[in-house]
Amino acid sequence: MTGTNSGAGSSAEDPVIIVGSGPCGAMAARELVRRSVYVTLLESGAGAPRGGLVRIGGHPVFRYVDDGPLRWDSGFAATNDPTTAWYRTLAGGGLSNYWTGAVPRFSPADFGSPTADEAHRWPLGYDDLAVYYERAEDAISVTASAESVPNLPANTVSKRVDLDEQWQPIAESAATYGHDVVPMPLAKGSPHMAVGRGTEFNSWHNIVNGLSKSPYFTLITNAHVQRLNWDAPSGRVASASYVDHSTGVEHEIHGTAFVIAAGAINSTKLLLASRSSDFPDGLGNTHDVLGRYLHDHPKDWWPLESSTALPLPAHPIYMTRSVHEDEFAASWTVGLALSRDRPKTYVGRAGTRFGVQVFGTMEPTPEHRVSLRDGQTDENGDPVLNIHFGYDQSTIDDMLATRQRFIDVFATAGVSARVETTGVSLTPGESVHYGGSIRMHESPEFGMVDKDCRLHAVQNVQVVDTSVFTTGPEKNPTLTAMAIAARAMETLRRS
Ligand SMILES: Cc1cc2nc3c(=O)[nH]c(=O)nc-3n(C[C@H](O)[C@H](O)[C@H](O)COP(=O)(O)OP(=O)(O)OC[C@H]3O[C@@H](n4cnc5c(N)ncnc54)[C@H](O)[C@@H]3O)c2cc1C
Repeated sequence: MTGTNSGAGSSAEDPVIIVGSGPCGAMAARELVRRSVYVTLLESGAGAPRGGLVRIGGHPVFRYVDDGPLRWDSGFAATNDPTTAWYRTLAGGGLSNYWTGAVPRFSPADFGSPTADEAHRWPLGYDDLAVYYERAEDAISVTASAESVPNLPANTVSKRVDLDEQWQPIAESAATYGHDVVPMPLAKGSPHMAVGRGTEFNSWHNIVNGLSKSPYFTLITNAHVQRLNWDAPSGRVASASYVDHSTGVEHEIHGTAFVIAAGAINSTKLLLASRSSDFPDGLGNTHDVLGRYLHDHPKDWWPLESSTALPLPAHPIYMTRSVHEDEFAASWTVGLALSRDRPKTYVGRAGTRFGVQVFGTMEPTPEHRVSLRDGQTDENGDPVLNIHFGYDQSTIDDMLATRQRFIDVFATAGVSARVETTGVSLTPGESVHYGGSIRMHESPEFGMVDKDCRLHAVQNVQVVDTSVFTTGPEKNPTLTAMAIAARAMETLRRS
């Protein structure tokens, strides 16, 4: 098959180049390779970090992952809130080596209403993604409830889990406020496993390793991409330049199309660093939108003591955003407050102490942004970034209100709940859900890419990670980013 033209105009000599093997890059590669498109995946890491995991009967009994490659406080300057963090790793599988695996679908309302501010209107909706959610769920294997509720459409479920009956009074009380209470959808795979990775789903082990057998797939590790090279006469990106970490030698690789999935901020950095006389402010940056509209989920966690014992959740419990649209947007996840309680979940014990994690939302604004800190480079030879980000008082007030709402839900069910924390301290970046800095919008005035994730100004470059999110609904983003990546690859294949 070598050398024959395949989908997307690719051939063995002129493949589609994908940057990054995290969940989004791996999903993009899977979709193309399965449809006989030649793909070369460039991954900065040498492989995935060492790890191990044993699960018996759905319970994790051993988990280890080497977190040495995880970084959060280097490679950037925080130009607004000094506590700002940027979690990332240059390793095969990216952050899926460390993630929790919460995979809620966005709901139709999460893509915005026609009356939303024009700047915040997504160019695609839930119906555009439904079939691609299924493909992503097929790749990651979801344990969840099989029922849809208004703000949480059901996943395609591999293993079904139901809410414990004894939590039903809390669910009924929550419903009076417009919330639904359901098991959190998790990428948990088989209830029994003994594997050499630290998370149940990891895109390196679960996707990339499987692709390696295909004649359509080439993997180049230690390949740290520094630039996409614009070819003015053809009006396309012709090649990518990368440094081989193991030798220090720079290489140039040609491709028919380029798919960027280096993680929200690394992808933004790559485009910002890809300057040319046609694009002096970064590839495709015609309207000074690149890097702007950065958003994240304000994240809060608090221990809660209830007056009545309830089953300690072996599987986390999720309370959705209210259906009342004028309310603050937040979701709550109830788990254990103490890791020593985990064995008690194996025998269905009840308890009175829980840990509650809340994700809120923020309105993306052009002021919150990633930009190059000119003149400085990091250990990989990449430009150092400025990250200008922070939460305002109204976001902090909303997060305090989410605590009261949770206490009220328990009180209406006749259970008194005490939150054992006062005040709210929000760390930008701590939820590891950065998005928006290469956002999707119909107009280049408000977004860098179109609904197919293609740069408005550069037709053979697509960006397929959370950087393309137009807004950040209060849900974990990875499943939706994988679905968007799968859809974008379908449009690439057909083009
Ligand atoms: C502790 C923790 C818990 C989390 N829990 C959840 C959760 O429950 N649910 C959820 O949805 N999300 C969760 N996340 C976030 C989730 O892991 C990320 O959203 C997801 O991994 C993003 O996927 P990605 O493919 O876009 O990027 P990444 O996973 O960041 O992967 C990017 C890849 O690109 C490579 N790369 C980067 N730069 C270059 C370059 N210049 N050249 C070549 N390769 C490059 C990296 O090595 C990496 O392989 C969690 C994260 C953490 C840290």
